[in-house]
Amino acid sequence: MPDTLSEKIYYKAPVFVQNSIFTLQGWKLARKRYNPFFYKYLEQLKRMQWWSDEQIKLYQDKNIMMIVRHAYDTVPFYRQLYDDNGVDVSRIKSTSDLKHLPVVTKKMVKEKNHDMISSAFKKGSLIKGLTSGTTGAPVTIYQTAESLASQWATWWRHKSRFGLTIMDRHLTFGSKIPVDQSQSRTPYWRSDFLNNRVYLSIYHISKQTVEDIVDYLNSTNFDFFTGWPSIMYVLAALMEESKLRLYNRPKYIVTGSEVLLPAYESLISRVFGVPVTEQYGMAEFAGNMSKCEHGNFHEDFECCFVEGLPIDGSDCHNLILTGWANLCMPFIRYEVGDYGTPLEQCCPCGRESKCFVSIDGRLEDFIVAPDGRKIIGMASVLKHAKNAGQIQIYQNAAGKVEFRIVPAPGFGEDDIETLTREFQKRAGREIEISFKITDKIEKTSSGKLKAVISEVPE
Ligand SMILES: [Zn+2]
Repeated sequence: MPDTLSEKIYYKAPVFVQNSIFTLQGWKLARKRYNPFFYKYLEQLKRMQWWSDEQIKLYQDKNIMMIVRHAYDTVPFYRQLYDDNGVDVSRIKSTSDLKHLPVVTKKMVKEKNHDMISSAFKKGSLIKGLTSGTTGAPVTIYQTAESLASQWATWWRHKSRFGLTIMDRHLTFGSKIPVDQSQSRTPYWRSDFLNNRVYLSIYHISKQTVEDIVDYLNSTNFDFFTGWPSIMYVLAALMEESKLRLYNRPKYIVTGSEVLLPAYESLISRVFGVPVTEQYGMAEFAGNMSKCEHGNFHEDFECCFVEGLPIDGSDCHNLILTGWANLCMPFIRYEVGDYGTPLEQCCPCGRESKCFVSIDGRLEDFIVAPDGRKIIGMASVLKHAKNAGQIQIYQNAAGKVEFRIVPAPGFGEDDIETLTREFQKRAGREIEISFKITDKIEKTSSGKLKAVISEVPE
């Protein structure tokens, strides 16, 4: 829903007016995102992804040195942080020197939000955005026109690996609410004609509407679908249940904004009959990683350096990101709250940038053990839920968890045994497990389906 117009007027307007408003808003967004820097960067990025290991290292070292110096000289937050920790910034010359710098947490960013802006820029000239975490209040992020263009170029470079271009027609599954909640007949979607994009209202995906939605998808051509995997997964599960098929298929499905759990990926690609790829990014633009044709996440080394810090008792690494594309609000050694599993060998695609096999979830995907310990990485248990339509781990008391499951055909004792075993591998045997079979799992207020919810009081 456009923020600039009164919702009341918007929702009462006829569909063609609503489409015009979306198109107008799309025109404004496109002017910001696809400015002249964008096309220059996109071409550069397409070439740079084939750089050698040595070229990448030299380039990253040069940028690390630059951003640390720039942050110390112009950003009050970093000057204070480095002075307090006795850091001599002139000694930070390469990615291997980063370990001498303190880690920046989300809490620090929230508290020192205004001290994080570089004095080299006028605040009024910057582009304002918000973080979109599923937990906690959003934080304001500032970007320059150049960094926003480079972020969008990074995202489109990812799509270009799968033959997609900026002109391609696409369907978006996201947070916008394009259709009044009370509307109970088609169309449950609105169009931005300028960007060749249609927004599907994710709040209207249900048993009652699924047939209309699939009829629409079969009546029109899309090059790709994009957006939140948990929502595409809900639509795919409803289609399978109602035995509805997609005949008019897009070339690819591109997901982002949340973890694409293997259970989501297999159902989405099976039901839509289309391969799925994803990229990992964030509003802060502290870093970005994009999958290649072989399904591995490559560090987008042109804009960032990704460190993976080992976590005790887990194969996952805590991701610490340093970005240098956004000079007005730099993030240096930022603990973003996500974790990933590094790829030890080279990726067969031929790109020599650092790789992760998977982004396994958020540090917030934890449960609490009876002794008060937080056990992270619990979303990875759900990989093993082969016959669950939807699944979630819910906890409201330490020492107890509930698996909430919307079963798919074939779900049975074997699945329960596997989930129990995988859960106990990670969390031990002291936690009592129960299984609740249900026909619906509630989404968060932002419309996402959370994999793990722990409401144990601290
Ligand atoms: Zn690769």
